[in-house]
Amino acid sequence: MKSLIAIICTLWITAPVYAENRISPKLAEEQLKQGNQRYMSGKSIHTRIDPVSRERTARYGQKPLATVLGCSDARVPPEIIFDQGFGELFVVRVAGNVCSTAELASVEYVVKYLKTPVVVVLGHTQCGAVQAAVAGGELKGSLPKLVAMITPAVDAAKAKSPKATGDQLMSAAIEANVRKSIKDILTNSPGLEQALRNKEVSILGAIRDIEHGGVTWLTP
Ligand SMILES: [Zn+2]
Repeated sequence: MKSLIAIICTLWITAPVYAENRISPKLAEEQLKQGNQRYMSGKSIHTRIDPVSRERTARYGQKPLATVLGCSDARVPPEIIFDQGFGELFVVRVAGNVCSTAELASVEYVVKYLKTPVVVVLGHTQCGAVQAAVAGGELKGSLPKLVAMITPAVDAAKAKSPKATGDQLMSAAIEANVRKSIKDILTNSPGLEQALRNKEVSILGAIRDIEHGGVTWLTP
């Protein structure tokens, strides 16, 4: 009986999101957390990565349960971390999970037109882009422009924890950088800010530990 309930619960939490009625922000958040728990415990179900799911999303379109604005770092693939399949995550990846115009437009699109109930800004430990902003050395090409977007987060981390250095400063800067991207989203997109106020969408910050695989959710 217990296993039957477990199966029903699993089917329910992984129920297709193709239906017209989207799921609530709270339920979407819960699905992400449970997906990460499955991944962390070595019990990923690799939901809907099969050909039938692929064809279904091709035919009926995408209805992602979450948008993830994450870092391009190859060690932080959202679909694997959250154990999600085709059509379930709308992923925007850019070094340092910054939010400039293209990233913001992508998030606006998915919330407005695909009615995605959750936006996650996903930072991670050992982020090279944040490290570059902390180190403050000379960079070439377009890199200084990218790092300049992260520098205010490093400054905020230093202001909050004036004595922090090394790993402690990196950790504070990574968190501040996630919070900065959330702030950038809300400051630069009145539509998303309104959607948040209307409780149509949740905007969450999270940090993935690339060593242990876990995700820490930031308090608002
Ligand atoms: Zn990174």
